[in-house]
Amino acid sequence: MTTSATRTHSEQQIALAEEHGAHNYHPLPVVITDGLGTRVTDVEGRGYLDFLAGYSALNFGHRHPGLIAAAHAQLDRVTLTSRAFHHDRFAPFCAGLAALAGKDMVLPMNTGAEAVETGIKVARKWGYEVKGVPEGRATIIVAGGNFHGRTTTIVGFSDDPDARDGFGPFAPGFVTVPYGDSAAVAAAIDETTVAVLVEPIQGEAGVLVPPTAYLPELRQLCTGADVLLILDEIQSGLGRTGATFAAEHSGVVPDMYLLGKALGGGVVPVSAVVADRDVLGVIKPGQHGSTFGGNPLASAVGNAVVDLLRTGEFQERARVLGEVLHSELSALLGHGVVAVRGRGLWAGVDIDPDLATGRQISEDLLAEGILVKDTHGSTIRLAPPLVVTEEEIREAVGALGRVLAARTASALVGDAH
Ligand SMILES: *Cc1c(COP(=O)(O)O)cnc(C)c1O
Repeated sequence: MTTSATRTHSEQQIALAEEHGAHNYHPLPVVITDGLGTRVTDVEGRGYLDFLAGYSALNFGHRHPGLIAAAHAQLDRVTLTSRAFHHDRFAPFCAGLAALAGKDMVLPMNTGAEAVETGIKVARKWGYEVKGVPEGRATIIVAGGNFHGRTTTIVGFSDDPDARDGFGPFAPGFVTVPYGDSAAVAAAIDETTVAVLVEPIQGEAGVLVPPTAYLPELRQLCTGADVLLILDEIQSGLGRTGATFAAEHSGVVPDMYLLGKALGGGVVPVSAVVADRDVLGVIKPGQHGSTFGGNPLASAVGNAVVDLLRTGEFQERARVLGEVLHSELSALLGHGVVAVRGRGLWAGVDIDPDLATGRQISEDLLAEGILVKDTHGSTIRLAPPLVVTEEEIREAVGALGRVLAARTASALVGDAH
């Protein structure tokens, strides 16, 4: 062990973080100080290409000039009023986001998990007041492998032991069926069902794209059984897949969108439930809220995000450059990569588990100046900011190719011994 005098800045920062920061994450060993667009710099002055983009919170890149200008302007006016009063950034944000989604109303919150919690509350209340489910009996159908956040209610219907074990007892009222299986949803629906809650593409599960017919079939089932379809587009939405919402690729419109991550432009946490009046209108004053939800700074930034998405430019970039990303990645199939999934600028890449774990590949790529993160086991997720260039995509996938070739070569040497 080196003494602190000979440790690098990074090593000192990481040691201090491990001493005083709770260990609820296992970050890669890089300490970032600055970011702009697709690039970040660490405390040693090394540059990296960010191919995680804050789990898609940074869809517009680090410090997008329009978003930073909106935030600066708002910082000089008013930042928090609470919802006890109106403020002049709230209406434009809600009206703009509702229009972008083709819905009537927006209920702004802060984190993604809060948007999911809000969706659950709205669906249950709708179930009792509109559908006529007997009080206390509402159920919500969810999918295996889901990731919807970290609150106690939400982890209670996760099937990831790390997310769940040790945190019970959990809230009842959820029924889990396999993801991508609409027949299982059909079989699970009964008179107590108020909603089906799924991710249109499962992010944390490794960017799992369901069968083409899945979302249209869920839409039909929900409409037929008077059940709300809630799509968690917190990671998949707002441009990532080459459309404003991932469900657009299937021509599906949910009853409720859950949005977060990129809605805050990588500047502040902003999340929202977006739905029509006949659904969101069930919430009356005093029944739900958040001190910070819809605050002036969040609304100003959220509104600037909506402005960026209104032109379709970012969706188009994700679509066109997504084809480059996926074709480059396909070339690595059989060369250390066993599967590639995803849509737009979003890819789950399964590494041959005999070669390396996702964590090892992430560390190898870090040394090459590319930031990615493993999801589970041998899967890494690539999700660059949508401002990424074609050359940067080739640079990152080229580095992945080199890393895999090096791992393959050392595995061969190992076998020969
Ligand atoms: C990240 C994420 C959430 C939770 O968002 P937080 O802001 O971390 O609470 C919920 N659903 C999906 C699909 C996500 O990717």
